[in-house]
Amino acid sequence: MKVGCPYFGIYTPLIKELGDYLNWDLILSPPPTEKSIDRGTAALAAELICLPAKVTLGSMIEACENGATDLIMFDSCGLCRQKTYWILQQRALRKKGYDVTVHPIRLGLGTPRDIWAVDPTVPIWRVGWAFIKLIRHIFRQERKEITPQDDNRVKIGIVGEIYTILEPAVNRDTIKKIQKMGASVHNFINLTYFISKKFGLSHRYFPKDIGGHGNESITFTLYYAMKKFDGVIHILPFPCMPEATVAPILDDISREYSIPVMRLIFDTHTAEAGLFTRLEAFIDILDRKKKQKSSMDRNMERNDRRVVIT
Ligand code: SF4
Repeated sequence: MKVGCPYFGIYTPLIKELGDYLNWDLILSPPPTEKSIDRGTAALAAELICLPAKVTLGSMIEACENGATDLIMFDSCGLCRQKTYWILQQRALRKKGYDVTVHPIRLGLGTPRDIWAVDPTVPIWRVGWAFIKLIRHIFRQERKEITPQDDNRVKIGIVGEIYTILEPAVNRDTIKKIQKMGASVHNFINLTYFISKKFGLSHRYFPKDIGGHGNESITFTLYYAMKKFDGVIHILPFPCMPEATVAPILDDISREYSIPVMRLIFDTHTAEAGLFTRLEAFIDILDRKKKQKSSMDRNMERNDRRVVIT
């Protein structure tokens, strides 16, 4: 039995650690490339299926070529179609001639049981312990990678679909690009959050659970607005149902709280140059707005002091 796993950004080394601890013969795919994404796209009804499903399928095809007999795939077990992609992917792989089984791994309390089901010869206590270790490592890694910074730089909050936010090959390294342009980035959407998620404030604006990360996009846009961030970037893959549904609500929050929200939609043919220009223009506008505001604040402070003296 050789277990393959699609590449998943900063979590890939942690999945390797998990596999090593459980004595899996683990085959990790390399980071997705244009070629692997094209292969995943060709194997599914391209225009109707969400980008993360095509990217992970491309990774799975590479794992199968390297001898994988079993594959693991994340199952959101939520309301959107992410919970069913493993079925479509297994079908597509078998149609291509690979005799593989795709094991869905639910994110949440069901995770240890699903990991155990991949290879039931491993004692369940060992899987439980591996899960606890995994969560601890994920938590540490996330703190290291995505830390809010308090300084004078433009502060941008990220909301949107989890895989597109966390996999640089899918978002064309957007987070690094923003950081290189001198802004600081904050992101709440990560795996630890996914496992313990709460909908919080979102029901005030949208009284239903919508699946994916639609509710979280509302909650965290509100959070960033209340915490006086300079702007929000809404990242979504095409054609993402929950994120598209909440888009008008995020626009309303943007107007209500005067916080600029920019939307970036990623698909297989997103052009790097266009993305770069949009990011640069957005950060430039936020920077100017921030400087204007702080000079107005300084003037008001000076005037207040004068009033007190006279
Ligand atoms: S959250 Fe969006 S991108 Fe992810 S599976 Fe659901 S609809 Fe597709």
